[in-house]
This record gives sequence, C-alpha cells and structure tokens, in this order.
Amino acid sequence: MSNKKIDLPASIVIRDLAQMIEKSPIEIIKKLMTNGVMATINQSVDFDTAAIVVAEYGFDATPEVIEEEVKKEMGEVPLWRQMIAGEDEKHLKPRPPVVTILGHVDHGKTSLLDAIRTTEVAAGEAGGITQHIGAYQVEQKGRLITFLDTPGHAAFTQMRARGAQGADVVILVVAADDGVMPQTREAIAHAKAARVPILVALNKVDKANANPDRVKQQLAELELVPDDWGGNTMVIPVSAKLNQGIDDLLEGVLLVADNAEIRANPAGVVIGTVIEAELDKSKGVLATFLVQNGTLESGDIVVAGTSYGKLKAINDFKGKPIKKAGPSTPVAVMGLSDVPSAGDLFRVVATEKEARAIISERLEAIKGQAQAKKKMSLEDLFANVQIGETKGLNLIIKADVQGSLDPIVTELNKLGEGEIGLKILHAETGNIGNNDVMLASASKAIIVGFNVQADVDARRTADKEGVDIRLYEIIYRMTEDIEKALKGMLAPVTVEKIIGRAQVLQVFTASKFGRVAGCRVTEGELRRNAKARLYRGADIVFEGDMGSLRHEKDDVKEIKQGFECGVGFKNFSDIQPSDILVCYTVENS
Ligand code: GDP
Repeated sequence: MSNKKIDLPASIVIRDLAQMIEKSPIEIIKKLMTNGVMATINQSVDFDTAAIVVAEYGFDATPEVIEEEVKKEMGEVPLWRQMIAGEDEKHLKPRPPVVTILGHVDHGKTSLLDAIRTTEVAAGEAGGITQHIGAYQVEQKGRLITFLDTPGHAAFTQMRARGAQGADVVILVVAADDGVMPQTREAIAHAKAARVPILVALNKVDKANANPDRVKQQLAELELVPDDWGGNTMVIPVSAKLNQGIDDLLEGVLLVADNAEIRANPAGVVIGTVIEAELDKSKGVLATFLVQNGTLESGDIVVAGTSYGKLKAINDFKGKPIKKAGPSTPVAVMGLSDVPSAGDLFRVVATEKEARAIISERLEAIKGQAQAKKKMSLEDLFANVQIGETKGLNLIIKADVQGSLDPIVTELNKLGEGEIGLKILHAETGNIGNNDVMLASASKAIIVGFNVQADVDARRTADKEGVDIRLYEIIYRMTEDIEKALKGMLAPVTVEKIIGRAQVLQVFTASKFGRVAGCRVTEGELRRNAKARLYRGADIVFEGDMGSLRHEKDDVKEIKQGFECGVGFKNFSDIQPSDILVCYTVENS
C-alpha cells in the first residue's frame, strides 16, 4: 500500500498535527515519547520530528511551501486549508464558497437570508423548501454558493471554538439607517480573529433616513475601507425588504471567493463539518453535514465528533434524496448513533470498528483537552508562555461606559509595547455575554470587565470552556494585574531534559528499600540525583525522586546504557516488570 501524502509546516503544534492526521493528541504525545521527545499538547515540534511521527501512521510528509506563504499573508491558516493539506495539488478543484451572515440585531440578517433563498433558489422550487436544515445553496451565473442560514455570532463562534470553520466568507449586514453598532463590531472581531474575508451588505437602503456615507465612514474607521474609497472591502447596497441588490451581493461573494482560491478534491478523503443536529423521536438522529472535501455517499460509514453510523439516507437541502454530495454541499443525513455537536468535524471511515476506535481515542483526547483548557487563566499565562501555547496575551475588554473603556484600552496598549505582546481582540461597553466568552475560548483570550457583570449564561460557558473572566472596579488594579502577568512571562524558564531510559526486567524485595526495580539501562544514563518517571504503557504510575540506585551490591551515583541496576523509589513500591523508567533533569533554559 502506498503512503498517503501530507504537507507539514516548518513547525506544528501537537494538537494541530493530531487533528491533521485524525489521531488523538495523546497518542501523538506517546509516539513522541517513545522517540525521546517530551512535548505537551500545546507545544510545537519541527518538521523532521513531525515527519517521523506521521510516517508511523503511513504518511509521507513533504515540507509545506504554499501554506507557509498563505500563512504569512493571512496569519492563521483556515481550517479547510489544513483539512486538504494532504491532497495532491493537481486534484484540487474550485468548490462553491460557504457564506455566513453576521451583523447587529434587527439589521436584517434573517430578511436577507430569506430574500436570497426566495429569489435565488432555482425559481419555482423556492416554495417547495418546507424544512430548513441550517444551510441552503443558490445559483449565481451558473455557480453555486452555499449559505449557512443560522444567522448570528453564536453559531459562527461556537464552530470556531470547536476548531471548525464552516464559512469561507462572512457577509456583514449593516443597516444603512442605523450604522455600525456593538454587534457589528463584535462580528468584525469574530471574522477577523478567524481570518475569514468580510463583505458588507449595506441593508435597508430603501429607507428615507438611510445614510450610506456615514456607514462607510464608520466602516473605514474599523479598517474595513470600502472599495469605492480606495480600500479592499466590498460594500454593496441592498434592500432585503424590496429584494434589491441581491444579485450584486452574490456577485460580490463570488469575487471575494475567487480571491481566496477556495478548493477541494472531490475524489479525496471525505471530511466536513456538522452544521446542526437533533434527535427526532421517530427518525432518530438528524444531522446537517457540510461536505468540505471528497464526496459523501449514502451507505458511507462516518464518524462525527464522538458519534458514528452508517448513513441510511442523504437528502439535499430541499429534502430530495440524493446518492452523492460533493464539496461545499449541505446535506441532511440519518443513521448516526448519537447527536453530534454543531461544529464537530465528520469523516468517512472504512469500517464501524475503525469508527469505534477513533471515538474512543477522541474521548481520551477530550479528557486531555479539558485539562489543557483550564490553563487559560491570567495566573497560568506565564506557564502557557513557557510551554509555547501563548506568545502574547489576548484580551477582550468590557466596560460600563465609553468614558472608561477608552483610557483602559490606552493603558493596556502601553503595557503591550514590551517584549511580550498584548492584543485587544475586542473592546466594547456592556455586560459580559456568552458571545464574549465564545470569542475568548476560540481565541484563547482572557476577558477583563470594568464595572460590569458577567451574565449567568456567560459564567456557565466560561466554566465549561475554561475561560478566565476578571472583574475590576479600579483601573490601576486591572493594569497592575496584567502587568504582573506580563512580567512573569519574562522570568527564567525551566525545561525538562531526558537523560536516560531503563526497562524494568524484574521486581524484587530488598529489606532496606522495600520493593526495588531490577532494570537494564537502554539509553543514556540514570543518575541518582535526577528525577524519575515510571510508565506502565501510556500511564505514568510514579513521578518523583529515586530513593536508591545500585549496581550489583554497590550504591552508585550514575549508571550507563547497557548496564543492569536496582532502583528504589521514595514512597512507592507498586513496580511491575516491563514498566519503563525515564530519568530526567529540570534545568533553567
Ligand atoms: P435580524 O435581527 O438581523 O435577523 O433582522 P431581521 O431580518 O429580523 O429584520 C429586522 C427588521 O428590519 C424587520 O422588521 C424587517 O422587516 C426589517 N428589514 C429588514 N431588511 C429591511 C430592508 O431592506 N428595508 C427595510 N425597510 N426594512 C428591513
């Protein structure tokens, strides 16, 4: 069997590597350990190391060239690009763009989605769509566009927080009579954080008090300079109510999409995102999938999040049964064992047995991630910087009034001029809501509130997602705390260095030391004063100091590869043959 190809960047975080090859991060960490590399889920490994690991799963790694260039230009690589990284360049074909609509409440998101659906879904059939599945497709100049039709930030950010990224393009709806409002700014923050291109629909231009120029001015101030003002943002006047400008808007979407070179391999691995899912009393689990690569077929066995099943039926968004669905197609599917979450990734696997194995790995990985997530508090920031998770501090600021928000932002920006960056993702007046928490979770940010409260819902989500919310009533206390956290980052960093490994061959009882491990040093050396960690399979059963190190009858300070020795551990005697002993030191780097 020939190896699968995969493009890897010069350095990759374990979590991302695991996701790329659909393995649990824990499994990858174990593989690295057996190769002598100790790394946490959030640490990066270089190309050579990653290539060795993926080779064990049958992948041929090549250095990623194009993706690196894209990364420089766009920052974060969109998830779909990562998903198709293993596909051969020459098999990639353009696919329809997937669009989501964001904007302030009442600016016309729902009306616009309805207007697009009724005017553009193949004329005559529109009335036939009785059931919404969370997405639909329209045709513009012979090309398809997929719309995710659950408007609002919650859906978008929830997906992003789960690492998924359904949308390729964001349509930002701004009412021409109302202008940029808090949720408009929030939507921009979400889209920018996810590196999804924005196109503005300037809605309600039919209204007498519509003021397009004022809106353009406001957008320009937010770095969305309209193209007719010499900028890069398309601002398209529409009226959802009168069905005006819809064609122009769709045309605009295609132009933005063409710029982004949205592609997939229709014949490649079948992967995508769960758009929504529910349990129907009579039909079982109903889910909407967005296919992002490959072609989904009825009868396929899929894994979606932690559920799986053989797809009994695939329907298109009009409720019509279909046999196959290619990239960017939204489909309603039946046959899953469990209800997956919106934003879960799905993929086709060969057998149900494989599906079950993947799920048990994922459950294990979720446990690991829950532990890792807890590390997002200000106190732990320093630790995160050490292990490479955080390069700087991402903040979301909420304050009671604009008058306090402005000086806070100025003060914090000053603090961020030091060696370690501080980035304010979003600053707004008002209480801390669920959306703030989802944005924080997706962007690994901390939320700082000044004279505001966190909603009950937001608190609950924050607990679940491990997001740190800090409330202050005095500005200097806030800046002081953040300054301390930033300074902490500059303190010396300690690193663990593995110096040797040994295999436990037998266990015996020595009266003085209790139970002792009879080992052979397989690599490096063991040192009496160094630290020891005992593995049983993947589990660490002991970690701490060595109580004794003996060669034959003598106490020794160290023992080298190839020799046998007896090792006792302080306050630990549950040693078993074939445990693996790893000896390491902790040093300042
Ligand atoms: P959403 O909260 O963003 O989903 O906004 P809706 O789509 O529910 O629209 C809010 C209100 O604005 C409704 O009363 C709509 O009828 C109205 N509306 C939406 N689009 C237009 C438009 O283009 N022109 C006018 N005059 N009213 C609109």
